[in-house]
Amino acid sequence: MIDGSTLLVCFDGLRRDRATTDRMPNLAGFMAAGADMINARSVFPSETRVASTSTVTGCAPGLHGLVANQFINRQVVPDGLFNTASHEALGRADALGVLIDRESLGQRLARAGKSFAVVSTATPGATFMMSYGAARVGQPVFSVHEGVGTPVLMEAAAACFGPIPGAATPNTARIDYATRVLTDIVYPMHRPDLAILWMSDPDITSHGFGIDAPETIAAQRGCDEAFGRILDFWKTGDGPENIVVMSDHGHITGSAKVDLAAALPEYAASLSPGTFSGLYLPDPTPQTIAATVERLAAEPFCGLIFVDMPGAPEASVPGALPASVMGGGHARSAPVSFTLRTSPTARIGEPETCLFAGGIEPGGGMHGGLTRGELSTVLAGGGPAFRAGFVSETPCWLPDIGPTLLTILGLPTDGTSGRALAETLAGGNAPAPAVTRRALHASIADHEQGVEQWLVDGRPITDFGWSTGRDGVPQ
Ligand SMILES: [Zn+2]
Repeated sequence: MIDGSTLLVCFDGLRRDRATTDRMPNLAGFMAAGADMINARSVFPSETRVASTSTVTGCAPGLHGLVANQFINRQVVPDGLFNTASHEALGRADALGVLIDRESLGQRLARAGKSFAVVSTATPGATFMMSYGAARVGQPVFSVHEGVGTPVLMEAAAACFGPIPGAATPNTARIDYATRVLTDIVYPMHRPDLAILWMSDPDITSHGFGIDAPETIAAQRGCDEAFGRILDFWKTGDGPENIVVMSDHGHITGSAKVDLAAALPEYAASLSPGTFSGLYLPDPTPQTIAATVERLAAEPFCGLIFVDMPGAPEASVPGALPASVMGGGHARSAPVSFTLRTSPTARIGEPETCLFAGGIEPGGGMHGGLTRGELSTVLAGGGPAFRAGFVSETPCWLPDIGPTLLTILGLPTDGTSGRALAETLAGGNAPAPAVTRRALHASIADHEQGVEQWLVDGRPITDFGWSTGRDGVPQ
């Protein structure tokens, strides 16, 4: 056992209400036995690279500055979109000093003389962000993608287990391989104080087949069996003391594709399209921003609209909310951003669907926006650091994970905007913090939108958002 050490396991794209005993018995059992944070939420936009960066910086996107999975940054990509899945583009942004504004967990551990490791089946970009700074200080990284991992660990994996299996949906073969790298190489060789294992399922299989498809359920089972082997390894006492499980966002069903470039031709040069889209106006003034919001609000595809007014992060215009209330709003954020319309609006219990801008076929899973299904995540901890059999109703979100891990490791949490979830930790009997609720609303013409938030010790955490507008709700 490595004293005080913790393993963070992420199940990419796993909604809490799909982490059932039926689909994922090992995970469900682990969550019930430890401290289970039943009101855990993603960040906005609910996208993987934004989420992984919030997880390892302990900060909202408006503070770390990785503001979307893709966006426009003319310094990094002069004439196109900066796609953060690309290892090479991230490296360029990093060299220019415009990638990330806060320290990562790996950098903090290195500074404190503690060891850190990452084993990932995620995209090169997500792996780069969750392991940010690792290669420079010699922390081991394993990635299923070429050119991303650190050579010593990649060579050790190849020598022990042969070539990495090809990508597939479900991606179980790759996840199994990565799990063996973690238990059979990383722990014996490196004895990390903190390790991250990132499973790319059920996300990629859900995108391809839908959130409740047999293939997605098989992907969840594959993840769960790998997690079961991790639990067996944990019980041998050769691994970490504590395990934290998380997901980065949920999924809902994509119903129909919208061609945003065709729908917004006058914004062609400033559009970063997606479930979360940005309009990087060349001349962002209160007047051009207000006119753009009015234009978007008249479109039947438009969901929620947010603005980041230059020099006035708390300000807004009719029909929009300030991005800062969502934990957004950064020098690299779009002056105007929006989600795509979802259905139903705010009713509970009906299957949620959304329009999408590409990347999947109708019926596939999608995320990036603010519905309950997209923001719903798994978060639970087990081991001596956590209360056992404890259900925490206190709302929490991804930026809280970093400060909680740092607290377990005995390290300071300065520079994070999240909250160490002390009420879930053993020993201290910390009281649950004060929680209140607020509803934010904006409207223009027949477009209406709202965001429901908790305030936890005064810090906003978004429960969900909704919108209605012209031509009703698309099916
Ligand atoms: Zn993800």
